[in-house]
Amino acid sequence: MTSGLSLALPGAGVDRGAVLQAFDALLQPERFKDYGPNGLQVEGRREIRKIVSGVTASRALIEAAIMAGADAIFVHHGLFWRGQDGCVTGWMKQRLALLLGHDVNLFAYHLPLDAHPDCGNNAQLGQVLGLQAVGRFGDQDLGFVGGWADGLPALTASEMAQHLTYRLGRPVVSVLASPDPIQRVAWCSGGAQGYFEAAMATGAQAFITGEISEPQAHLARECGVSFFACGHHATECYGAPAVASQVAARFGLAHEFIDIANPA
Ligand SMILES: [Zn+2]
Repeated sequence: MTSGLSLALPGAGVDRGAVLQAFDALLQPERFKDYGPNGLQVEGRREIRKIVSGVTASRALIEAAIMAGADAIFVHHGLFWRGQDGCVTGWMKQRLALLLGHDVNLFAYHLPLDAHPDCGNNAQLGQVLGLQAVGRFGDQDLGFVGGWADGLPALTASEMAQHLTYRLGRPVVSVLASPDPIQRVAWCSGGAQGYFEAAMATGAQAFITGEISEPQAHLARECGVSFFACGHHATECYGAPAVASQVAARFGLAHEFIDIANPA
């Protein structure tokens, strides 16, 4: 054995602490000010053989992970957020009872998973959409800005709406603000509609995120910058499997991504 992160013996699991260390080393949660705890949110069994990744630690995902034989679940949206009342009742009791009753670990990483330059939500979303980042913007540098990847022509806003719908396989809410070809695009996964003005300040002619609120439609029209709301879930379902599969491969663990469909 030459390394503390050596591969597991066939059939043997890997210590929970080593897996946590690997996630922390990759995602560097200490660099972020976040809305909830990043890392191991619920402690399960000590040995991990299989990781199931997903977007949100919903009851449906936890049940599916248990059925799939997971020892650990890795998600973007964990269980604990600032502003909760802290009571273990109702839906929280049900989710925790499943995890604790089946001794399953829950790892959750929020902003660190959005931000990672290669396997984070924004980096992976850019790849899916054919966008190449040249810079970052916004609070904690979470937003990405760039242009079309090699070989892709600049699209107009209405072509871009079709392109996004096709690549993401779902309807997109579009505010088409200008007929000109779009050279510079800013994007930030999830509920980043509040980043729109910071995105416009980068010189982008279009902004892609998960959600839109009422004011952004007016801002888009008045400033001539197109806005595309592609779904919170749809823009955040690439980071978790990218990170979990990388860490699982490093330890020789099994990994499966389970998508719990969400129209939002
Ligand atoms: Zn999110």
